[in-house]
Amino acid sequence: MQGLMQDRQLLISTLIEYAGLNHSNVEIVSQTCEGVEVRSNYANLRSRSKKLAKALLALGINTGDRVGTLAWNTFRHQELYFAVPGMGAVLHTINPRLFADQIEYIIQHAEDTVLFFDISFTALLLPLLSKLTHVQAFIAMTDREHLPAEIPDCLCYEDLLNAQDDVYDWPQFQETQAASLCYTSGTTGQPKGVLYSHRSTVLHAFTVCTVDGLQLSRQDSVLLVVPMFHVNAWGFPYAAAMCGAKLCLPGLGLDGESICELANNEQCTMSIGVPTVWLGFMNYLESAPDRAKTLKLNRIVMGGSAAPRALIDRIHTHLGAKTIHAWGMTETSPMGTIGNLLPEHQHLSQQQKFDLQAKQGRVIYGVEIRIVDDEGKILARDGIVAGHLQVRGPWIANAYFKMPDHDVLDKDGWFSTGDIACISAQGYLQITDRSKDVIKSGGEWISSIDLENTAVAHPAILEAAVVGLHHSKWQERPLLVAIKRPDTEVTQDELKDFLACHVAKWWLPDDIVFVDSLPHTATGKLQKNVLREQFKDFVFSTDQ
Ligand code: ADP
Repeated sequence: MQGLMQDRQLLISTLIEYAGLNHSNVEIVSQTCEGVEVRSNYANLRSRSKKLAKALLALGINTGDRVGTLAWNTFRHQELYFAVPGMGAVLHTINPRLFADQIEYIIQHAEDTVLFFDISFTALLLPLLSKLTHVQAFIAMTDREHLPAEIPDCLCYEDLLNAQDDVYDWPQFQETQAASLCYTSGTTGQPKGVLYSHRSTVLHAFTVCTVDGLQLSRQDSVLLVVPMFHVNAWGFPYAAAMCGAKLCLPGLGLDGESICELANNEQCTMSIGVPTVWLGFMNYLESAPDRAKTLKLNRIVMGGSAAPRALIDRIHTHLGAKTIHAWGMTETSPMGTIGNLLPEHQHLSQQQKFDLQAKQGRVIYGVEIRIVDDEGKILARDGIVAGHLQVRGPWIANAYFKMPDHDVLDKDGWFSTGDIACISAQGYLQITDRSKDVIKSGGEWISSIDLENTAVAHPAILEAAVVGLHHSKWQERPLLVAIKRPDTEVTQDELKDFLACHVAKWWLPDDIVFVDSLPHTATGKLQKNVLREQFKDFVFSTDQ
């Protein structure tokens, strides 16, 4: 027997319709590539998204066509977030920090029919123009005055909008239709396309708004630091429309000072981003403590790589804000687990709370997780035994775009994340490593993430990476590569003594090398494969 409920589809257009009508005056503040600040609201966003949808139709964009964007977090990018999927096409956000040949590869692989770009990416685009054989039009996200002359026949975003009115009914279609496309940054091999549906996007947005999720609500003014070219900015532009949160878009200004200024001016209550950004932010704040006094940030959502415990402590101590540590990946939309404390944790000391917050949190409804051994046997949730993390749910990928032969699920529908983790009896996930980064020493596993987090807790260490390198006796041993904070000193032995107070003796790195910089991926993660290559001929002092 079927239920007798209306079969309204979960479409992205319903989010902007709802926000435009019910949160009409809530502000959207955007920095821009032209250097001016634009203040808008949800009513205006709805109106302009409709004009843009009509402009896309006028350009000949059809249902399912891919519309590429090379853009920062700005109000125009946000309009594309609603207009493109809303009219039935697929929004393909491109990470401009990838290498030029990877950008070329993904635009070609996605077969983008038009490409919207911020004028700051003109130089990046120029050498690619002739190679992007599917792209029929290049559209500069600016007004006529700032149109880049270098791109032949380049269309102007504002002109396209000005040619349309906002009388438009969003089309109705199946919620399982594709809405947006995002490629993984691919530290090894070519990037792979993850194709989100309207349904997965709307369900994911609900989760962001739940109290035990990220508590996003109309009370919030959100500073969107995570780039809109990365996993739909963790779903926040959609979730913010769902609950009517004010959105502050930083444009190109992602350094500590710019973030701080925007957060102060707009009285932001929450912000989201990768740990590297917050390290920069806290370094800035600690050098300008007066600026922290007027900030209203009460929570920082951190994910994409492990949030160091020491950083969670600094954010609590110097900013008075709570860190919500989340785990996810491009393939999981991205929210998989979210690190909130439970009522039974209220009596814990602040230090014990930090310990829990440094774990990656618990699953939210909709997502299932489990850990398995090399043979696929399900492992215990005891917080000790670690295994391969698998995940399942309605906003988890079941295949990659245009890779029909690449099986990503096992027979029961579980997706292998490539992460090594343990899960506690209370359900807290702890990522101990990427499976390719875990250090296999004499048959035992050493967590590079744990060692890195412990190293950055030392006052003289700014950033640390641990890689496993060949050792003739142990197969692999850990090498710690670290950057010292400016004007501080620490020796190898002092750092080893410090680590020895916090980790098992056999985990201690055999050697420590101090460097001036560490390699990062386009999304700000440590590039361990580059480090392993750089140190491939390294001989441990314990292995001479
Ligand atoms: P890419 O795979 O393109 O580098 P993703 O954002 O999809 O980018 O990366 C997902 C991976 O990032 C996860 O599989 C995990 O290894 C790592 N990651 C994400 N969040 C966390 C976290 N909170 N702690 C530790 N690792 C994390």
